[in-house]
Amino acid sequence: MKRKRLFKQASLVSADNPRTQTADILVDERGVIEGVEPEIRAPEGCEEWDCRDKIMMPALFDMHVHLREPGREDQETIETGSNAAINGGITGILAMPNTTPPIDSGGMVRFVQTLARDRARIPVLTAGCITRGREGGQLAEIADIHQQGAVMITDDGSPVSDAYLLRRALEYARHFNLIVASHCEVMELSRGGAMNEGAHSYRLGIPGIPACGEEICIERDLRLAQYTRTHIHIQHVSTARGLEIIRRFKEDGVNATCEVTPHHLLFSETDIQDYDTHLKMNPPLRTVEDNAALLDGLKKGWIDVIATDHAPHTTFEKNLDFASAPFGIIGLETALLSLYTRLVEPGHLGWDVIAHRFASEPRRILNREPADIAAGRTADFLVFDPNAQTRIDASYLLSKSHNTPYLNQTLKGSIEKVVLGPDILLDRLTGEPAPLFSKREVVT
Ligand SMILES: [Zn+2]
Repeated sequence: MKRKRLFKQASLVSADNPRTQTADILVDERGVIEGVEPEIRAPEGCEEWDCRDKIMMPALFDMHVHLREPGREDQETIETGSNAAINGGITGILAMPNTTPPIDSGGMVRFVQTLARDRARIPVLTAGCITRGREGGQLAEIADIHQQGAVMITDDGSPVSDAYLLRRALEYARHFNLIVASHCEVMELSRGGAMNEGAHSYRLGIPGIPACGEEICIERDLRLAQYTRTHIHIQHVSTARGLEIIRRFKEDGVNATCEVTPHHLLFSETDIQDYDTHLKMNPPLRTVEDNAALLDGLKKGWIDVIATDHAPHTTFEKNLDFASAPFGIIGLETALLSLYTRLVEPGHLGWDVIAHRFASEPRRILNREPADIAAGRTADFLVFDPNAQTRIDASYLLSKSHNTPYLNQTLKGSIEKVVLGPDILLDRLTGEPAPLFSKREVVT
């Protein structure tokens, strides 16, 4: 039988307050927050957790994840990917449709959602394709995709190069209240490229992907969203100028949102020294000036969301030479730890920004219940120990793939508990319930 749970003296993070507040948090048997007070006396039979010197914050929501099922279950499955999410403090994900086959019909949406309901302990939302087979030639069955419950359409991994098709997709999406998300890239400009184009790519002898290819496409897509009066979400913006274009259109009243990945905030092209394919992603790592502009944009609110673009690839594939290896790194299990280590702990970014951009805003954009820690809300939070450390190795990672630049490195902080409703999805201290083996009814 479930008992009430009392979390004592946690340092509470909220999206709208740069300061943490010490509080006791009481969660009832059904998993609803009963009280958040400076001090709560433990009711009889209540389970008590000492959270002194621990951060408690709303659990994260990642709206850009590649789960690889169906088709590449050797890289990731819905089960391993959603468990990796929990391991990283994330209690909701939006899966991209570039599976094999791609999710380009209502039937495919239904198929992956059935799998997700069966195998994931957190809500796994689905995006459908914009074009059939993600081939860019004809529109996918957008009405059907919508009807079966997809919340977004995107050809992520590729842009919709045909502006006419994107325009029609925006018009459909507006009708169905679907979000159109755009991977911005002019393929004719990036053809064959593997890293950011510039002095550094010439030095390494690696073909380049120019920043202008992303920026031109951002401008085109925003202009089409403006013309069709439709919400567009620009995925993984990586350049200062790209962000500047987004800001300009937002100020013009265009219904646009955008996201940044932790790796585009934390790494630049100059980190690519020894052809390490764990630094090969698309869009590529840009310059240190771009890193600074993105961080500034995140603080000022021009960037709406942090999302990981979790992209699992096998060790075999990532061991290919730099030009041949696939784009992308995993991110679910390192996002919060790396942001804490490199930005929050040194004082470059507040916890409130992480809560706002990585917990509240994605849920708001996707019409989900907010996850703020307040009386009457469903418990949906994590407990983080800022004084502990986490070694990113095979015993920590639950993702099937280990393609991360942090592999075998130690990051500051530790995600100790993840609580969703009446369930403790993760308890790193007791190890129970083991993340992989307890099933629960998915909260939808
Ligand atoms: Zn993409």
